[in-house]
Amino acid sequence: MTAEISEGQTTQASGVLNAAASNLNTPQTPSPSPQHNKNDDQYSPLAPVVSSVSHIPKADIHVHIEGTIAPEIARMIATRNGVTLSENLFKEDGSYQWNGFVEFIKAYDEVSMALKNERDYLDITYHFLKKWASQGCIYAELIVSPNHADLIGLDRDEMMRGIYAGIDKAKSRFDIDARINITCLRHESPEKAEEVAVYAAGLNHPYVTGFNIAGGEKEGDIKAYKNAFDIAHAAGLSCTAHLAEAASAAQVKDALEAMPYIKRIGHGVNLIFDPIVMNDVKKRGILLEVCPSSNVEIGIFPKMDEHPFGHLFRLGPKICINTDDPPFFFTDIDREYGIVKDAFGLNDHELLEMTRNAITHAFCDQATKDNLLAKVVLPQKKMPEAGVAGVEGEQAKPKKRGWLACLKGFRR
Ligand SMILES: [Zn+2]
Repeated sequence: MTAEISEGQTTQASGVLNAAASNLNTPQTPSPSPQHNKNDDQYSPLAPVVSSVSHIPKADIHVHIEGTIAPEIARMIATRNGVTLSENLFKEDGSYQWNGFVEFIKAYDEVSMALKNERDYLDITYHFLKKWASQGCIYAELIVSPNHADLIGLDRDEMMRGIYAGIDKAKSRFDIDARINITCLRHESPEKAEEVAVYAAGLNHPYVTGFNIAGGEKEGDIKAYKNAFDIAHAAGLSCTAHLAEAASAAQVKDALEAMPYIKRIGHGVNLIFDPIVMNDVKKRGILLEVCPSSNVEIGIFPKMDEHPFGHLFRLGPKICINTDDPPFFFTDIDREYGIVKDAFGLNDHELLEMTRNAITHAFCDQATKDNLLAKVVLPQKKMPEAGVAGVEGEQAKPKKRGWLACLKGFRR
């Protein structure tokens, strides 16, 4: 997916573009409504949040580096780089402002293009991890596109050094661990993706542990990117891919036939329409990186209570909770866990399971995983909630959702 900005320069917002406008026409999804009436959604940014989940250790393994830039950080970086941001980029309360998919892409691109140098990447990485750590996040994986460095005329290695330094600074101050997944882009050619994979393979840095593909899901045949994935996989990088967010579950089948070593799927929410593929994903032990607010804000599902998170949790493969491009979707990791608790009825123990799923499937070494998993416990003074996993009375009741018929006959 590409988007034109006012200067006529073609840009790429790496994070959310899998849900490009063309993708929003999939016949298997409910009618998209990126401009849905947010007043009707009790989990909209306009509504007050949600139960406290501050005591829950969290992980966020699907978040795009440029998509983490909070409005106040965007202003700071733009000011020191001499970049003037549009007046209509922000609401009166300081949050980002956009209405509809095209405006969203413009906002994302405008903020991304304000980055100019290594220090900027250090700062956005550090400030993101600092905030997430303050919300109980103990581990994050950042999705990084070398294409963005190319786009802003920054040396890729300088960009990477900035991110490494941001991770180091946050780790030393807040004890939050982070790793990096280098991503190629579906709207770029397979040859370009292979070049990105070669770059990723050559980094040979302990923080660079994964490889991904983002971008418009209908922009190219996923199997055409097999060579890129093979290069990354052969170099020891673990693989994940944005799939079945806006496009159908059939792409997951294609991807797993071509790249059976894929360990996680970014989003994967449309698996809910295809129990056969969903069951295959489950048998393979693949984790879905689910990003609830992203899906609703983009219009994949019209409202949070029509999102299939609860059904995926109870019937589908392992899943976890992620933020994708949080300030652009008016959320953060604390809010996403809170939404999952309230909208889908997960209790504290089940929220811990979400964090354990993310860490168990994390692209980091086993010693780091063991250290992190030891932290995934409730505070000792807090009594466990009544009703642990499996207590039906606490769980959200299924509501009228178009994909429920697809689940007929499916058993966990
Ligand atoms: Zn994403």
